Amino acid sequence: MTAFDIALYRPHIGQAEIQAVTDVLRSGWLSSGPVTEDFEGKYAAALGVPAAVAVSSGTAALHLAVLALGIGPGDEVVLPSLNFVSAAATVALCGATPVFADVTGPHDLCLDPDDAARRITPRTRAIVAMHYGGYAADLTSLARLARTHGIALIEDCAHAPVTDSVHGVLGTVGDIGCYSFFATKNLAMGEGGMVVAHDPALGDRIRRLRSHALTVSAQQRHRGGSSLYDVDTLGLNYRPTEIGCAIGRVQLDALPAAQARRREAVRLYRDHLTSLPGLTVPFADRPVEQSAHHLFAVLLPRGADRDALQDALRAERIQSGVHYPPTHLFTAYRERDPGEQAALPVTEDVMARQLSLPLHPGIGAAEVRRVVEAVSAAWRTP
Ligand SMILES: *Cc1c(COP(=O)(O)O)cnc(C)c1O
Repeated sequence: MTAFDIALYRPHIGQAEIQAVTDVLRSGWLSSGPVTEDFEGKYAAALGVPAAVAVSSGTAALHLAVLALGIGPGDEVVLPSLNFVSAAATVALCGATPVFADVTGPHDLCLDPDDAARRITPRTRAIVAMHYGGYAADLTSLARLARTHGIALIEDCAHAPVTDSVHGVLGTVGDIGCYSFFATKNLAMGEGGMVVAHDPALGDRIRRLRSHALTVSAQQRHRGGSSLYDVDTLGLNYRPTEIGCAIGRVQLDALPAAQARRREAVRLYRDHLTSLPGLTVPFADRPVEQSAHHLFAVLLPRGADRDALQDALRAERIQSGVHYPPTHLFTAYRERDPGEQAALPVTEDVMARQLSLPLHPGIGAAEVRRVVEAVSAAWRTP
């Protein structure tokens, strides 16, 4: 499937996932049903929260978060530009304005609370923090900032399923936590996601918006509840499939072991790469236990030729990636905001030299050493 010996990501699907999917196919219930409910319950329990709402993608999770908070035209949402484009797009699609803030620095690629504070205006309704690569954003400062201004804190936890941090379990510190279970994520069900909300009323609202805002769900009707329903607001269909949730449930059980394998690979990467002159390993000062390790990111020296290094790695059949092209530089966002070019000096500096190296639970020590060797070789040949 891949032209690479060592891919950036590789899903780890075993016999248990295959069996779980087969069981669903034989059950006669394909859309959200008992497996989805059970997956929600187990995910909530893993986070230590009362409830979670499974959805069809991480983007659906973010969209529901913004909708449920009633954010719309005239409102602003502060978020990092150094992020996947999802969060900004969902804010803009709700008619609100994404306001981009900078990240902390080369050693911390998460939203800078001080810069976020500078971007807050009377129109700001929420902050979206993203836990880059699985490392916690400074939620303590961001939650304080949100409280001070009476605005919401949304956590984009696409890189950090069931991840503890010094601030608390990621996704449960802010008002709403949004997770992605896309094929390349640590917990992968192909397409899927989850939302948790601190306020149960907000969680209920998200649950209803997920399914056309029906006052009575299809499952409740199936169980013999009222067959009539009302619709009291505008909803969507962001339900996951039972097939996806069957995979998700198995992957949730397997997550602790998979995370341990990611940590081993990261230890090895750090041991070898932090000593390369000029190379920065972001977050290397944080304990290896304090991350979901979705990505292993390095920053090349300023002015280094990233394309040439990627070509050299490709020649060794090693895949690499860039996470992410900054959102504020995309055509759609420049055109939305032609007058006001946000100054994001840290984002622009680090993203010109960021490179993600292969990291997944199936990567072994020999493969990590091959990547390290290929990167080190590029250092020796100027
Ligand atoms: C993957 C990702 C998303 C979007 O999730 P989907 O499930 O692909 O919609 C959002 N934010 C971040 C940071 C991501 O990595």
